[in-house]
Amino acid sequence: MGRARISLGSGIIVEYGALKFALDPKVPAPVDYTFVSHAHLDHVHTPSIKSKVIASRATKKLAIIRGYDLGETIEHVDGVKLLDSGHILGSRAICIGDEVIYTGDAAGRERAFLAKCKTRRARTLIIETTFGSPEYVFPEVQTVIKEVNEMIARAFERGKAVVLMGYPLGKAQVLSYLFSMWAPLYVHERVARMNDIYRECGVKLRAEKAVSENVEGLPRGPFVMVAPMMNSNSDFIRRLKKSRGAVLAVFSGWAVDRGYRSMMGVDFAFPLSDHCDHGELLRIVNEVSPELVYTTHGFTEEFAQELRRLGYDAKPLNGYQSDLTQYAEAD
Ligand SMILES: [Zn+2]
Repeated sequence: MGRARISLGSGIIVEYGALKFALDPKVPAPVDYTFVSHAHLDHVHTPSIKSKVIASRATKKLAIIRGYDLGETIEHVDGVKLLDSGHILGSRAICIGDEVIYTGDAAGRERAFLAKCKTRRARTLIIETTFGSPEYVFPEVQTVIKEVNEMIARAFERGKAVVLMGYPLGKAQVLSYLFSMWAPLYVHERVARMNDIYRECGVKLRAEKAVSENVEGLPRGPFVMVAPMMNSNSDFIRRLKKSRGAVLAVFSGWAVDRGYRSMMGVDFAFPLSDHCDHGELLRIVNEVSPELVYTTHGFTEEFAQELRRLGYDAKPLNGYQSDLTQYAEAD
């Protein structure tokens, strides 16, 4: 089949033999196969009907409730392997003919019911580098869990509610799973919709009570609520703080940044991420052992430079960046 050719068009285009693949394009691409790595909104679109769509079943289900119909999807193509990327339910990396691996968004460690990104050896690696700078060292998941449980226990002793906030698809399900032993447990209605799909796909999330942004429906005593990122100045949060003394906590890899907590206007920020930290990105590169690395999203130039110092041929795929702001969307 020879070597794959990689170019930027509507998304990353891989030509391999007679076939063309578009990887997470933002608009329909005139190719044989369109790969949708996962159901975050910076990775999904309604594809061209001419292109066959490679995506997991969970990604198709999650895309639909987010307003995107991927149409008929397939998981098996000759010469192509899908690898669990561990980022959210259904997220996949793709390996095309042992030539090219594209990670999509990838996690570097197991947490809750999620795995870490699987790898294979390939000649070319296209890797997301959201946290591709050395300061991003995430603490052990167990350490974060312990700190959060202590924080909740302290709040409960003082009769306060705790709001655990994270990206509504992905992070909120990890939070719903990890902290489900606290009662009463509520989830914001936007999180509840996603939790239901996770349950349909076999993830054992405990039943919880879904609530809208209505303080009257919530108890007077302490409770935990899993919610999307909400503005701390929103009417709902202000009323929760005033009437229930609510303690606000956000969960994101960006919590490593000094200043993130105060920028978000919350009491606590915990570095619990669905991406690889810097060391985990290096480990993936090492495992794939590629001749050429392309970096996408985030610290593309910095990480490529570091890889070149380590002896890899590496370059950023600039122009393929999320058009959404990092803090808002890089979960
Ligand atoms: Zn994502």
